[in-house]
Amino acid sequence: MADVNRITRLGMVNAYLVREDDGLTLIDTMLGGSAGKIIAGAEVSGAPIVRILLTHAHGDHIGSLDALKERLPEGEVIISTRDARLLAKDMSLDPDEPKDKLRGGYPGAETKPDRTVDPGDRVGSLDVVAAPGHTPGHVALLDPRDRTLYCGDAYSTLGGVATSAKVNPLFPLALFTWHRPTELESARALRALEPARLAPGHGKVVESPLEAMDRAIARAS
Ligand SMILES: [Zn+2]
Repeated sequence: MADVNRITRLGMVNAYLVREDDGLTLIDTMLGGSAGKIIAGAEVSGAPIVRILLTHAHGDHIGSLDALKERLPEGEVIISTRDARLLAKDMSLDPDEPKDKLRGGYPGAETKPDRTVDPGDRVGSLDVVAAPGHTPGHVALLDPRDRTLYCGDAYSTLGGVATSAKVNPLFPLALFTWHRPTELESARALRALEPARLAPGHGKVVESPLEAMDRAIARAS
C-alpha cells in the first residue's frame, strides 16, 4: 500500500500531506482549531509544509487556513480560480453557471491565495483535475506517481463510497452540494481517471476503488 499521509479528526474530516522534493504539500486544512494537529503531523513526517492546496472553499476544508498561514508564513496558498472568489466571500455566480443556491458553509478567510490554479495545471507532482458541482470551482488532485486521487468532497467514503450528488443517509454530504448534475458528471470523470486509491475529505482512504465508484455513480444516476 502506498504511504498516504492522512491527518484526521475522528476519521470524519481529513487533510493530507503529500511529499515532494522541496517539502510537503498540505491538501485542505480541516475545521478551525486543526492547525496544531496538522503541523504536528508534518513534524512527524520530518519535512516542512511548503504549500497549502485547497480542494474547495467550504468551511471544513479552509477552517484552519488563517491559523496555518500565521504559523507558516512562507507556505504558498493555492486554490482554484473559481473557488478563490468564494474564499473571499464573493458569492456571485457566473452568467453561464446554474443558478442553484450555494449550499454549505462558506466562512471565507483573511488569507489571500498566493496562486490560483485551473484544471490542467500542476502543483508539485499533483495534477489539478476539474471536479465542479459540490462547489462551482471544486478540484481534485491526482498524484501520477502512485495514482492516488485526492478527491475532496466529490466522493466521500464515510458510510461507504458515495458521490456528493445523491444523499447518502449515513453521511448526507449532498445536502451541501451546489449542483448535483454537475457533481455527478465530475464523479464520472474522476472514475475515468482509474485511480488506484481514493483519498477523500471525509472517511478513510480506499484502495482499488473503481468498483465502489461505479456503484456510487449508479446509485446517483
Ligand atoms: Zn467537506
